[in-house]
Amino acid sequence: MKHILDNSSRLIKTFNSITIFEKGKQMGFGMPYNPETTDIYNLSNISSEEIPKLPQSLASWLREQDQESLKKWNVTTFPIEDSQVYSRLALGHYFHAQFDVIIKKLKAEGFRVNALVNCTVTDILLEIKSNTGKVVANNGDYKCSKIVIATGHNFLNTDQPVTVIMEPRGLLKKFYLVNRNSIILRLAF
Ligand SMILES: Cc1cc2nc3c(=O)[nH]c(=O)nc-3n(C[C@H](O)[C@H](O)[C@H](O)COP(=O)(O)OP(=O)(O)OC[C@H]3O[C@@H](n4cnc5c(N)ncnc54)[C@H](O)[C@@H]3O)c2cc1C
Repeated sequence: MKHILDNSSRLIKTFNSITIFEKGKQMGFGMPYNPETTDIYNLSNISSEEIPKLPQSLASWLREQDQESLKKWNVTTFPIEDSQVYSRLALGHYFHAQFDVIIKKLKAEGFRVNALVNCTVTDILLEIKSNTGKVVANNGDYKCSKIVIATGHNFLNTDQPVTVIMEPRGLLKKFYLVNRNSIILRLAF
């Protein structure tokens, strides 16, 4: 979207309508930073000064947020620094806000933008004769002249966190780790 915005005067001569498909409930967070897939304890590993240019920098945007929101995203060290990393949640909300800003700017440039949530793409069909494509989604088909695929990561297996069982009698005596293959490690001290 940022690339389209940066080149809007040229690209609007080629297409003026954009449809974005997102299978999740909310648009623009980025999968690892979405409240549906992370919690407040996960840190990101990219600082404000390392993020490619968006309308506003992460640090500048965080400085404008209220204390209550910052607390919810586990942003607890102040002042906010350009070189510091913050929680994935904070980063996700930042990306979400930048997404909204970019969409508004695209609309102001004359693009029609249709951002669809809860909308899973199940197939993409090319129509060679007309040099067009069809996006097949769970709520219908969409004819397109250009298609950009940005599906991100795909986790094939369901997450199965390791279960930790400890018997802390006095000093740690036994320590069992049970993973999905039922391997048990016993560490005696
Ligand atoms: C656990 C984890 C932590 C990470 N942490 C960092 C970090 O701290 N710093 C860093 O720089 N990079 C990090 N990365 C890498 C970085 O997040 C990715 O490179 C980045 O998110 C990729 O962006 P994207 O838009 O291509 O994909 P994504 O952010 O994955 O977005 C793709 C979107 O497409 C949607 N989608 C997928 N399939 C369909 C479909 N069929 N129909 C409709 N919608 C669909 C998904 O729901 C998702 O919202 C991390 C990656 C992972 C997996």
